[in-house]
Amino acid sequence: MDKNTRICIVGAGPGGLMSALTLRRLGYNHVTVLNRDACHAHHIGGKCHTVKHDEIACDTGAVFVLGTYPTVKRLAKQADIQLIKSPPFVIQCKDGSTRPFGCPPHPISFWKKAAEYIRIFIQVIKYHQIFKCSVGEVHPRIVKDLALPYSDWVAKYRLNFFNGAVYPLMRSFGFGYDEQKVPAVYILKCFPCFATNGNWLSLWNPSKIDLYRIKEGYGGLWKRLGSDLDILSDIKVDQIQRNEHGGVVHHNGNMKTEFDKLILSCPLDEALKFLDASSEEKAIFSKIKCFSVWQAIVQAEGLGDAVIIEKYQSHAFVGHAMSYHRYNPEKNWYYFFGYTGGKPENEIMEILKKDIEDFGGRLLSEPILRCWKDFDPHFNTKDVADGYQGRLEKLQGKNSTYYSGALLNPFGVELVASYAEKLMKKHFP
Ligand SMILES: Cc1cc2nc3c(=O)[nH]c(=O)nc-3n(C[C@H](O)[C@H](O)[C@H](O)COP(=O)(O)OP(=O)(O)OC[C@H]3O[C@@H](n4cnc5c(N)ncnc54)[C@H](O)[C@@H]3O)c2cc1C
Repeated sequence: MDKNTRICIVGAGPGGLMSALTLRRLGYNHVTVLNRDACHAHHIGGKCHTVKHDEIACDTGAVFVLGTYPTVKRLAKQADIQLIKSPPFVIQCKDGSTRPFGCPPHPISFWKKAAEYIRIFIQVIKYHQIFKCSVGEVHPRIVKDLALPYSDWVAKYRLNFFNGAVYPLMRSFGFGYDEQKVPAVYILKCFPCFATNGNWLSLWNPSKIDLYRIKEGYGGLWKRLGSDLDILSDIKVDQIQRNEHGGVVHHNGNMKTEFDKLILSCPLDEALKFLDASSEEKAIFSKIKCFSVWQAIVQAEGLGDAVIIEKYQSHAFVGHAMSYHRYNPEKNWYYFFGYTGGKPENEIMEILKKDIEDFGGRLLSEPILRCWKDFDPHFNTKDVADGYQGRLEKLQGKNSTYYSGALLNPFGVELVASYAEKLMKKHFP
């Protein structure tokens, strides 16, 4: 493709920024990123957002780098930003006692655990394709097999150890409550990310899995990486018109950006408001589901270092804090996380304050709460089984348009960034 191709990217989250960085590396000179951030006009990074308190970087969105996050680790190295090992989580059990993360609620014999891992291993071999490509690229038969809710998949293969030992962390990372019936394929895809440096054997002992944070926060990472890119901030897209040769983005009243190729890396359901969407785009984007989550920066004393709250692992307690951890061992700033379940911010704030008290903490200042409505976009089990991910993938390149971002390869920064990089290399050689 001509390196002077005018490429316009809408959205400056990990999907949009990684697309832009890859295109830049591939030699494309006319790449413009249009960004609108709901909270901070000049913020880039989307749900990777960091603020400073007491000289420490406090993430308000994405926070952890998992053991097998090769793309993110490479980007951190490139940006010369250090990764800091996070303290291991403990689970605060329903009866008030604690156990290390990775230990099941009830002891399990070696042989039972081995049998369970063999059952998982068989699944991994059978469905290995899901670890190599996006859900939309996987064979439809495999997608259909794994479209069942994650909790049904666990029950089907009797994965009790795994469910009790590992899944609380995933729920607390925003992979959904059991009641939300998230398709198993999305969760399974993320398993390898939890291994230590690509070593699957490390998953035998989940209490040893490595979690890291980025010293300057995820927001700091993208800010540094994006500093040379051509990014227009505070953009309000009014309309996008396209044909097979290119098109134009009308924005901020009377401004326009013409393009030969468009990359949509903003929430695609929202894009229906301004996009000249085809009937296929309308059909697909209107099926998108998201979780609604909250995150709070809390200054408090008397709390643990990294805690998962077992009693709030069910949808019946939606709104409560699922987990919290300390940003820095020497400072009293904490990251709290939960699902909103549609509750208004003032109600979440009341629940949070009460939770902090129940956990033995004492607030030192008013918590800073942020709600994210479009967290982890995905399709429901029926739509996954009906091949919506595949239909979306087939649209890549049609009508001068490409799609990057979390919906294409859920969940988490690594999968979003690695997908964006691969997509650009494939279509913009
Ligand atoms: C509370 C929380 C915790 C998380 N924790 C982790 C974690 O620990 N580890 C991990 O790997 N991932 C985590 N994630 C997930 C991770 O942040 C996302 O997977 C990732 O940010 C998705 O990237 P994206 O580019 O698809 O979307 P986004 O990050 O949402 O970026 C979309 C971009 O599009 C812009 N935009 C939206 N509408 C428009 C418009 N109309 N015009 C122009 N621009 C627009 C937005 O401002 C934003 O810049 C977390 C997310 C949240 C919210």
